[in-house]
Amino acid sequence: MVISLPLFSNFHPSFNDLAMKRFFLFGAFIFLLIKTTESQTNITHYQVTTGIGKQASNQFIVLRSFEKNGIPMYLAADPQTLETQVIPAKNMSFQAIKWSDLQKMDANLPYFKALNSASMQAKSLQDAGIAHGYPAEKGITLTVDLCPSTKPLDHSIFTSLISEFAKIEQPVPIGLSISGKFLNTHAADIQWLKKLETAGQIRITWINHTYTHYYNSKTPLQENFLLKPGTDLNYEVLQTEIDMLQNDLTPSVFFRFPGLVSDNSIVDKIISYGLIPTGSDAWLAKGQNSGSGSIVLIHGNGNEPVGVQDFIRLLQTEKEQVLDKQWLLYDLSESIGDEFEK
Ligand SMILES: [Zn+2]
Repeated sequence: MVISLPLFSNFHPSFNDLAMKRFFLFGAFIFLLIKTTESQTNITHYQVTTGIGKQASNQFIVLRSFEKNGIPMYLAADPQTLETQVIPAKNMSFQAIKWSDLQKMDANLPYFKALNSASMQAKSLQDAGIAHGYPAEKGITLTVDLCPSTKPLDHSIFTSLISEFAKIEQPVPIGLSISGKFLNTHAADIQWLKKLETAGQIRITWINHTYTHYYNSKTPLQENFLLKPGTDLNYEVLQTEIDMLQNDLTPSVFFRFPGLVSDNSIVDKIISYGLIPTGSDAWLAKGQNSGSGSIVLIHGNGNEPVGVQDFIRLLQTEKEQVLDKQWLLYDLSESIGDEFEK
């Protein structure tokens, strides 16, 4: 039976009211949608731009240029501390220099030393790059991988960390390797993490973990993850950064290969984006133990309960030493930067 709308309205006295209500609700929805889009950070003209930036007596290595809500900006790294910043173009003088020339200018800077060292360690198929942070001291650099997942973020990692380290280290430093797919499907989790950071409980180093993080359990490693033939590396790297910036997260100079799988040529390509591949010498779910100076990797996307439980147990067994400040968590840029300062 087909009912035409005017006829239907005749038989249904409240139809006009209902239609009006729907119309207003729809209007309100569109208005909210426009408002939300308006208040969101808008990143455009994003590109790899290399050179030296100067702001007062500070010197930066410029890695990207873009517009944030129409205002020209640079993403720049401090070559001593390896920390990154978003700096408005009007606040900094900029001299464009080709990446290959830039690398040769001052090879003794910790940033270029770390890139160089990562390039030298690129031979193996798995776990290329920097795998050790602070060799001389007790403590670890904790990195949590946020690979694509339909499950929510494992909040217990963060709440355990905060409670175990509350007395001696605040904010607790933590490296989060984030995939674009995770970022765009876990808005509430990202807000929750940002709140912990604003409250001074954690300090996050955002590590690029590529956008799609392709994986097929039936494909050999040589053609899996980022080594999949036809991978658009520009998209994988830059789209993840754009989405970080759109969420007001500052991309760091660190990069983590999905599955920790890479080869020589892809390591060099990642380095040419100014990114330092960061491996792990202690992947807790794979049964490796962490020692002093380790970069520990656990998964934070609810897919790896063993690794997370091991880590919480490790924190509890080391509690005495944690309280004694013999066992600390280090900031990724701090530990890598210091290792290459000599
Ligand atoms: Zn991953």
